[in-house]
Amino acid sequence: MSVIQAPLPYETNALEPHMSARTFEFHYGKHHKAYVDNTNAAIKGTPLEKADLETIIKSAKESGDKKLFNNAAQAWNHDFFWQSMTPKSGEPTGKLAEWLKRDFGGVDQFKEKFKAEAVGHFASGWAWLVVENGKLKVTSFHDADTPVVHGVTPLLTADVWEHAYYLDYQNARASFLDAFLNKLANWKGANEKLEQASK
Ligand code: MN
Repeated sequence: MSVIQAPLPYETNALEPHMSARTFEFHYGKHHKAYVDNTNAAIKGTPLEKADLETIIKSAKESGDKKLFNNAAQAWNHDFFWQSMTPKSGEPTGKLAEWLKRDFGGVDQFKEKFKAEAVGHFASGWAWLVVENGKLKVTSFHDADTPVVHGVTPLLTADVWEHAYYLDYQNARASFLDAFLNKLANWKGANEKLEQASK
């Protein structure tokens, strides 16, 4: 078994005009695919060959294999990013809506905080909404770094590497974040992940 690049949960044009099919052609079809291919090439013939992706990430972190860690973590992060968006975004509901109010003061306050974290993140990385010690928290990690090795439960992520938004927004990362938070975020999926995590 090798690491599989999961199919996108929607068509490549499903998020237009906020994220174009052309972006998916490169971001999913080339960037993400390369991380998966590089991971498979690196684990071939090693004891990790049949391991699942999270095990590969943790093992590479422990052994200090930065090249494997970066590729495997990026393979995982991108899969989470595709799941973090949907053509049926809407508004947060259920436990997620309750916790956003409890921990940030409301949905708008959360969006402001997430946007500030994502826009303020220097250079490449990922902005995350996570559960840490029973509370929601906004954070970001650099480059390929991933919640998989930080003991937190991720609910939602935005890729802030330039390749995530350059074709659609050029250098305007803030405009990309406005679209992500107001048109694309998969609140239903994030709520399901929260329900699962707080069982
Ligand atoms: Mn990316």
